[in-house]
Amino acid sequence: MNRPLSERDRELIWHPYTQMKAWPEAIGITKGKGLFLEDEDGNQYMDLIASWWVNLHGHSHPYIAKKISEQAASLEHCIFAGFTHEPAVRLAERLLPILPGRMAKIFYSDNGSTAVEVALKMAVQYYQNRGTPRRKIIALEGAYHGDTVGAMSVSERSLFTRQFDHWLFDVQFIPFPEQALTTLNILEQALQAGDVAALIVEPLVQGSAGMRMYPPKVLSNMIQLCHSYGTLVIADEVMTGFGRTGKHFACDAIKDTGPDLICLSKGLTGGTMPMGITACTLEIFDAFLSDDATKTLYHGHSFTANPLACAAALASLDLLLEPACQHSIDNICLLHAQQLLRWQDHPAIRHIRQCGTILALELNTGAETDYLNKDRDFIYKFFLSHKLLLRPLGNIIYLIPPYCISSEQLQQAYEIIELFLNQLNIRYHGPSFQQYTVPDN
Ligand code: PMP
Repeated sequence: MNRPLSERDRELIWHPYTQMKAWPEAIGITKGKGLFLEDEDGNQYMDLIASWWVNLHGHSHPYIAKKISEQAASLEHCIFAGFTHEPAVRLAERLLPILPGRMAKIFYSDNGSTAVEVALKMAVQYYQNRGTPRRKIIALEGAYHGDTVGAMSVSERSLFTRQFDHWLFDVQFIPFPEQALTTLNILEQALQAGDVAALIVEPLVQGSAGMRMYPPKVLSNMIQLCHSYGTLVIADEVMTGFGRTGKHFACDAIKDTGPDLICLSKGLTGGTMPMGITACTLEIFDAFLSDDATKTLYHGHSFTANPLACAAALASLDLLLEPACQHSIDNICLLHAQQLLRWQDHPAIRHIRQCGTILALELNTGAETDYLNKDRDFIYKFFLSHKLLLRPLGNIIYLIPPYCISSEQLQQAYEIIELFLNQLNIRYHGPSFQQYTVPDN
């Protein structure tokens, strides 16, 4: 008999975001179906985080699989400089009309980090090409935009970047808009100081920072302020795109303005193939048109616009735009909102928040909210033992489920979380601590 996957893996593989000393064993997954991942012992886990926020329609969706397979039989890949193909053109034709802002061009790359790198390069070179160079980038405190060097530079200096801080380019970080006026004032001061090429934000929800949320009004104020100083705005919709906030894109929540560049990945292919997109306005694109070779955007990847990834994205878009999918998204939003009301006074919860299909619970573990919270592993293992995949960010747990989840499945997940909350309450406050009763409604 074959040795277990986890054992063979341990000998050869180094996993992402994993301290391999503490976590030498990975769970061997043999199958994905809908909401579930199945391991080699037959255990089925509800994938409530959509496998790092990528999976939109459930695992191994037959329609997406069919479209990838058909594409593989006709054109699996082709160089994208000087050549093009139907799936890439079709995807641009379908995406551009539904993107927020005045997006006119699509630039393909491979993942969320590269989508961000491309946006940063476009913004900086845009000003250079116009003969009015600007060098500064502004980002929000707590930001996370990826793990490549440029993407790390515009991310909060943190545990993730510490070893490389001396390498990263300078970025001005402004406060996360908890106090909107403070953030806007500091942003305006930074813009007044001049030389600012771009502000980059995760619109409405900062993912890795712990699903921290801010209202659309602040987003629109920040964008308007930047535009009044001729500064570009990059919306990193890598996590928030494709229905996660309840609308197609987080920036759809604002009406009067829009970003100049949008980064997409994760849900773009329904979570089936790696791909990134940077969309930009015509004004940005036009600034690169020249007889001068130095004004070219010298950026590209071997797998740019891979036809299989484009086919997956087109299939995922077909599914997303079906009324049934919007109905499921609305249903998740509604159930989350009801659950938030039920839990808001639970003593084991320090803060609970929701944006569309994302529900986040900051747990009261007696220690500070932190990525390295001492109870993180206990929380993770508890849920795994109950067959829920909920990968906490420190003491913050969140649900960002695939849209195929049924009301009953979501309810089941809430019940297990409730069980955990009650245990946590007893663990930290003893059984005599305020008894929590679930409201009737
Ligand atoms: N931007 C945001 C907002 C993200 O959440 C992430 C990934 N979590 C990235 C960029 C980087 O994407 P990738 O992991 O595909 O490089």
